[in-house]
Amino acid sequence: MSTHITRREALKLAGSAAVGLAAAGGLANVQAAEHPSGDLPSAEHPGAKQPPAGAPKLTGAYGGGKYTLPKLPYAYDALEPHYSAKALEIHHTKHHAGYVRGLNKTLAALSAARTANDYSSIKKLSRNLAFHGSGHVLHSLLWHSMTPGGAKVPDALAAAFGRDFGSVSAAKAQFAAATKKVEASGWGILAYEPVGNKLMILQAEKHQNLAIWGCVPLLVCDVWEHAYYLQYANKRGDWVDSFMRLANWQFAAERYEAATR
Ligand code: MN
Repeated sequence: MSTHITRREALKLAGSAAVGLAAAGGLANVQAAEHPSGDLPSAEHPGAKQPPAGAPKLTGAYGGGKYTLPKLPYAYDALEPHYSAKALEIHHTKHHAGYVRGLNKTLAALSAARTANDYSSIKKLSRNLAFHGSGHVLHSLLWHSMTPGGAKVPDALAAAFGRDFGSVSAAKAQFAAATKKVEASGWGILAYEPVGNKLMILQAEKHQNLAIWGCVPLLVCDVWEHAYYLQYANKRGDWVDSFMRLANWQFAAERYEAATR
């Protein structure tokens, strides 16, 4: 299956925590098949799991038990002189590829942990999953976040910018300012906040703080002390065990279905 997403989908994806990115264990494959620029291995796998009917075509990068490095939607020299061919090629084939390798390695280790029912390394594995998973998702989005010559803000997005930031120029100014001021390593991110149906501009410091950008939360358990201390005092484990008895998997299933639709 050749998988690619349109610019509009990429834009939606880049700004949305609500896209079914990782819901099926499939992260974004934002390779653009219409620009086969690449001298890179194809992201296709014979055994790739098909996405549910009507789902965004985003799951192609996960198949045969592995994530793969997506192709770029343009040639390495297409962003010259603003981004050099050399810098782009190294970024893609060394750095992004490293995240893909690390993600696959971590998933294999998690699989082994489940088989052995041995979760003694769960903190380290969860950390590695977030680090490599976010690295893969964000770089997959990054390649589509640039295009030769740039692109104008489409009308619908301009209207949303007006509503949520005051104007297109204000949204751009805030994005540039926030991105420049990210402390140390990280990302500037235009995001969609689905509870309030609102665009936001966020700074991601590093990107491995135990979440994978683009993932859709399906079921959550609060372990801030305010959630359990009044009843369970310091016994967080007891609270989590109680939560597991209350868990609404029907709700999770509905969100899963919506995210993969
Ligand atoms: Mn990078």
